[in-house]
Formats: sequence, C-alpha cells, structure tokens
Amino acid sequence: MTAQANPLRWVLLLLIAAVIVPTVCLLWFMNQAVRNERLAVQQKLIDVYSKKAQRFFVEVPDLFFAGKEEHLRSYPLNEPRNFFQLFAAGPDRFFQGMLIYAPQGELLYPPLFVDTGENPADKPFADKSQETIELAYLLSYPDGSATITPGVAARVMRSRVFLAQRFLETADQRLVNHLRRSLGGDFLPGPAETTAWHIERLVAIANQAGLAQQLANEIQTAQNYRAVCENAVQAALAYPSAAALDGWPDQTIRKLPGGLDLYGFKLNVSGQTLLGIAAPEQILTILTASVSDMQDEMIRIQVSDNLGNIIAGEPAADEKPFLKLTAGKFMPDFAVSFYFRDSAVFEKAAHRQTSLYTWTGVLVAGLVTVTGVTAIRAVGRQIRMNRLKNDFIATVTHELKTPLASMRLLVDTLLEKRCPDEATAAEYLQMIAGENKRLTHLIDNFLTFSRMERNKQVFDLQPIAPADIALAAADAVKTKFANTHCGFTCTIDDNLPPVNADQGAMITVLVNLLDNACKYTGADKQIDLRVVAQNGSVCFAVTDNGIGIPRRAQKKIFNRFYQVDSRLSRSVEGCGLGLSIVKFIVTAHKGKIDVQSAPCKGSVFTVTLESCKR
Ligand code: ADP
Repeated sequence: MTAQANPLRWVLLLLIAAVIVPTVCLLWFMNQAVRNERLAVQQKLIDVYSKKAQRFFVEVPDLFFAGKEEHLRSYPLNEPRNFFQLFAAGPDRFFQGMLIYAPQGELLYPPLFVDTGENPADKPFADKSQETIELAYLLSYPDGSATITPGVAARVMRSRVFLAQRFLETADQRLVNHLRRSLGGDFLPGPAETTAWHIERLVAIANQAGLAQQLANEIQTAQNYRAVCENAVQAALAYPSAAALDGWPDQTIRKLPGGLDLYGFKLNVSGQTLLGIAAPEQILTILTASVSDMQDEMIRIQVSDNLGNIIAGEPAADEKPFLKLTAGKFMPDFAVSFYFRDSAVFEKAAHRQTSLYTWTGVLVAGLVTVTGVTAIRAVGRQIRMNRLKNDFIATVTHELKTPLASMRLLVDTLLEKRCPDEATAAEYLQMIAGENKRLTHLIDNFLTFSRMERNKQVFDLQPIAPADIALAAADAVKTKFANTHCGFTCTIDDNLPPVNADQGAMITVLVNLLDNACKYTGADKQIDLRVVAQNGSVCFAVTDNGIGIPRRAQKKIFNRFYQVDSRLSRSVEGCGLGLSIVKFIVTAHKGKIDVQSAPCKGSVFTVTLESCKR
C-alpha cells in the first residue's frame, strides 16, 4: 500500500461514516416515519371523531332524554283528569300521548270502548225541548268531586256536543262560553275515540258559529288533545297490555311498529308501566341537530332506529363505517354510523405531516452532506498540506544539501592547500560563488513564498518600459546561459507602451521562466524571450525547445511544490515553487500567464500585462 493510497482510503471510509451511513439511516427513518404517520393520522382522526361522537350522540341525548324522563315521572298519574290536560295545554308538549298500564298489566289509559251510540242514556238528546237543553247543561258540567268513569265521561261529552248544537240552532248567547270551557281544557278521562270525536264536533260548531278566531287558543288546545287521543288509541291497539311490551327495556325509546310514525318512551313508575308517545320530530330534533353539528367535509353520519330505518344523516353505500355506536343509554337500539367521505382521507391528512418529514429529511441529508463534504475537504486539505510539508522538507533538504556539500568540499580543498595552482584555486572560488548564488536564489524563492503565504508581499507598481524588465532579466541569466551553452535570443518590439509594474518582481517572473526554460531543455538549448504589444497589452513570451509538459500537468504546474517529475533523483535543481511565485506576482499585477507546451517539442510561457494609458 503506498503512502498516497492510505489517506485516500481513510477519506473514503470517512465519507461512508460521515455522509452515506447517516443519510441512508435518515432515509430509512423517514420512510418508516411516513408509514407510521399514515397509521397515526388514521388513529388520531378516529380518536378525535370518537370523542366528538361520544359528546354529540351519547352525552347530549342522555342529558336531553333524562330531562324528558323527569318530565314523564312528574305527571300526576293518580289524577288523570289533570294530567290529560297537561298533554293539551302544558308548557312542554314533548309527549303527545301516553299509555298507562296497571301493575297487573292491563291498560288503564286511554280507556277504549266501542261507542255504539245505543246507550239508553243518550235518548234524551233526541228531544229538543228547553227542559232537555237545561238537563244537557247540567250533564255537561258535572260536579268536580264526582267520580268520572269512562262511561260517564262519554255521556258528558255527547251531552256537550248536543248542547252546543242546540245553542247554535237557537242562537243562544251561552254558546261562546260553552265552547270556551269545553274546548279550553276541561277534558275528561273518557274513551279516547269519543274524546276525539267530541272535539272534532265542537270545533266544527265553533267554525259554523263564526267563532274560530275568537276561540283560536281553545281550538288549538282541543286539537292538541285530539291528537293525543288519536296517538294513544293507535299505540294502545299495538300494545293492548303491558305484556306486549316485554323485551322493551325500561327507560328506553323505540319506534312503534305497524307503520305508526310515533316513538315510545317506556318507563316504570311505582309499578305502573308508562309509554310516553312522541312524534318523530320531537325525538329526531336532537339527533338531527347532533348530525349537523358534527358532520363535516370529512365525515358522513347515518342514524338508524330500532327497526333499521335511516332517520337522520345521509344514507351510505355498502361501505364499512370507521365508527359505530348506540345513541346513548335511552336509545340502545338506535345505531349511529360514521363514514369517511373520501377513502383517501388518511393519505390527505397525512400528506402535510409527510411533506414536513420529507423536507426535514432532505434538509438534514443536505446538512449532513455539506458538513461531511466540508469535513472531508478539510481533512483532504490537511492531508495535502502534510504531503506538501513533507515534500517541502525533502526538497529543501535535497536542494540545500547538494550546494552545501560541494561548497564544503571545495572550501576543504582550498584550506588544505591541495590546489595544484592559482588558476585552479580561482576556478574553485568561482564555483563556490556560483553555488552560493544558487543558494541565495533558492532562499530568495523560499522567502518570497513565505511572504506570499502570509500575504505580506507588497508591490511597488509604477509605469515602466517593458524593455527595461526584459533586458534586466536577460542580463541576470546571461552568465548561466553562457556557462550552459544555451542559445538565447531576446527580441523586443519598438515603441512598446509602458506597463504598470513592480520592476523587481517582474524581473523575478522572467528570470524564473528563463531559468526553467534552461533547466528543462536538453543539451541543444534554444531559448527565446520576445516582448510584443498586443491589443493594448504587452506580452512577454519565453519559448524553449525543451522536454515540454504533458497536457494533464499543465494546469498543476502553477501549484505550490508541484513538479512534473518529483523524483528526488531528478537531475535539475528546484523545489516546485518558481511557477507558483510567478503566478502570484502576475495575478497581483492583474495580468495573466498561459502555457502552451507539447512533450519533447518545447514550451511557451506567455505573461500578459495591461499597458498603462498614456
Ligand atoms: P521547479 O523548481 O521544480 O522548477 P517550478 O514551479 O518552476 O518548479 O516549475 C514546476 C514544474 O513545472 C517543474 O518541476 C517542471 O516539471 C515544470 N516546468 C516548468 N517550466 C518548464 C519548462 N519550460 N519546460 C518543461 N517543464 C517545465
């Protein structure tokens, strides 16, 4: 395993640990969360609606019907004469009829018997004499203390009808009072059919006498009572004795069978069985109110009675309700079913939460990625820096060691006077000076690099003639080129515009480029420095016929410490800093540097600087 592969492997492992694993875990978690959310939303919705349903269809009806039970218990059962009047004119006409059974089970109210009209006691009513009328008057209003059996009550009622008829025919002023009293509530516990009949007759007489308006209240009361009687008769025919109510739990409400549009509230009061009779609108108001209060755009409610008829809400198709309950303790046979209008409701309800999860997930995944990538880049940079540092130390050591070693050797030779002659000694001293110059150049580069790194390099930009820069650079490399038998040409166009530059820094740039051109060229060196004006700029081009640079490496050569051939054994000196210094200086001059090169053919480095406006 190479030294380079190791850190890479670590970076890869780090990437997996810091980004991929958490992201995969997060995605898995999100997926689970979204799935759970759907179930949770379903349960949450059902919970919410269950609570509401409990309130609207259990608590509210229970409270309402508990009041009605109280009401039913409060009837003065021992005083039928009074409580019958309560049905007709009482403040709360919730019950519109009642059946009362004795503890033994026989029906106490309403008394039912077939009124044949052949009762001998009726005979006097055929006689229209004044005496008969007075007798009928007496019969119509019996003493309050008298015991009124159903038979007696029936006769009283017939008498009242006879009397009213006579008063009408004889235009007797007593008719108004008679009707007011008979219709206004003085009802008797007579047979229900007879009661209904006599009310019907008296109302007809009132209409004939033109008293409908005057007696409007009384007529209304009488009509109410007539309905009570008719309801009671119908119910009594369905339940002639308490035994017929077996199986109907006490304190509960049911719809009456046999096509009767009536509901019954069964109640046991001191051994007697009561069946309070109520019209559908009385029973249904509370349920329809609950339906409309609770139904919303999401759910549909359906209420059905003990016979399975839908009595409130919307009829539902064959769907399965998500919730079903009975309508409180008074209506155990009434079913309330709840349906979702849209089967995709859970999806929709969960959608908001799901998108919240998704966005959070995406955000967290993004954050993890950004953090991971940043961390990995930081680690990568650190690894690169470490490598650079190692390279730097190796390069510096190598570059310093060679000239120092040769200088030491030469100095030792001179000190030990092992020099054959003066000329050789002078040559050695010359060589020591050369090595010294090389070291100075190397250290200069290190210093410039260090200043560059710390952003401490300051440039003194002034308008300067490009020729001055080029000639100074050519002069600096002259000796070296001569020593290495390097063919060198320097072409400078006439009338070049001045450039805004730091002369010393720009000479460093050209010397570095010329130095490289010489270093990276074989034995037959041909180097050219050309300075030309181009589109308002000045170009300094250094051309050589050297080893060239592979395309892949051309971008990297300006990086610090980069060398195409980084082997310590390479023949030429240098530490990979020259071009990075060149690039730094050119950029600080707002200029640019390009390279065109092909392996084995040579390279052209071109520095372009903006010319000064004259
Ligand atoms: P060095 O001190 O190694 O010369 P530089 O930064 O000056 O460092 O150059 C970086 C690398 O670019 C060199 O190591 C060399 O491989 C390549 N290079 C620079 N100039 C030339 C050139 N004229 N011809 C071929 N290769 C070059």
